[in-house]
Amino acid sequence: MASLRRNEPLDPVELAAELIRRPSVTPRDEGTLPYLAEVLGRLGFRCELKEFTEPGTEPVLNLYARIGSGGRNLCFAGHTDVVPPGNLDAWSIAPFAGRVEDGTLHGRGAADMKGAIACFAAACARFLAERGPGFAGSISLLITGDEEGVSINGTRKLLEWLAAKGETLDACIVGEPTNARELGDMVKIGRRGSMNGYLTVEGVQGHTAYPHLADNAAHRLVAMLQAMIAAPLDEGTAHFQPSTLQIATIDIGNTAANVIPGLARATFNTRFNDRWTSDSLKAWLKQKCDAVGGRYTLDFHVSGESFLTPPGPFSALVARAIERVTGRVPELSTTGGTSDARFIHHYCPIAEFGLVGLTMHKVDERVPLADMAALTEIYRLLLDLYFPAA
Ligand SMILES: [Zn+2]
Repeated sequence: MASLRRNEPLDPVELAAELIRRPSVTPRDEGTLPYLAEVLGRLGFRCELKEFTEPGTEPVLNLYARIGSGGRNLCFAGHTDVVPPGNLDAWSIAPFAGRVEDGTLHGRGAADMKGAIACFAAACARFLAERGPGFAGSISLLITGDEEGVSINGTRKLLEWLAAKGETLDACIVGEPTNARELGDMVKIGRRGSMNGYLTVEGVQGHTAYPHLADNAAHRLVAMLQAMIAAPLDEGTAHFQPSTLQIATIDIGNTAANVIPGLARATFNTRFNDRWTSDSLKAWLKQKCDAVGGRYTLDFHVSGESFLTPPGPFSALVARAIERVTGRVPELSTTGGTSDARFIHHYCPIAEFGLVGLTMHKVDERVPLADMAALTEIYRLLLDLYFPAA
């Protein structure tokens, strides 16, 4: 890296491999963001490393880098933290070796999403080499080390900190591995909300031969859950699949067949579309439980509300860049889990597009070099289309 100068071609594969070699298992950084800041600094970006912490959480390092001081600010958002590798023996190539074999880059974070960060950095290098740093606009990178974990000291705080400084984002591309099978098949323009429910039903324990002297908590728990799953939550909306509710576990822990349980618990997860908010869904679920009656508690954990950037000029631009490079017309989708785009969409239009997600979070996470070359070109073209030459 010592020889890397401003506007010198930057190899996305080499950069991604260097990032993979820093084992930044969430929320640890292991030198990853300072290294990325150094690389971006050499391209002319002004980099600010910002650590956030709060009681009960581990401090997390974040990065905001920007080149240009005026015009529209196109932001790339992503994360350098990765999920743990799990059983090391199961990997055919060590997860943090950052090795290329058979035209494929291997390692934890290759797809999710150090690979995409490296592609965007390389795209910036090419764009700046062609257009010079004097183009009428700004490019920024908003990179957190806290996406795979609790997401408390990451993107949300970074956005608040930027807003307080008067920094604005005009559009944001999020580099999550959105493609289902092949590069170019899917852009995400929103995500469903996610909420866990923790239901505890209290009854009165008793002898199964004398049910009139007891109140069976299991019966009421089953009735409440049945009321929740009896019919679909909705039929889906213009840009979303139907909302779902899945029972994850039912826990009664009763070891005797002749005892009526006095306590029964269940945990369920909902993925909900823009027909609901977490509050309206909570109210609906409580109604179902109240209709069954008796003593119960229902607690919730909301991981994210549903959100949507309706198809518009920015998603059209992203789709055009993808089609020109891959020949594929991407589906604009809201499927899958949540991402940090849930924080960013409050500030500007978003579209999520990165590598193929087939191996993310798995053993032998990997990405074909051809995909990295194509993604770099897509990002470069996106910059070119977003900042038309005068
Ligand atoms: Zn990710």
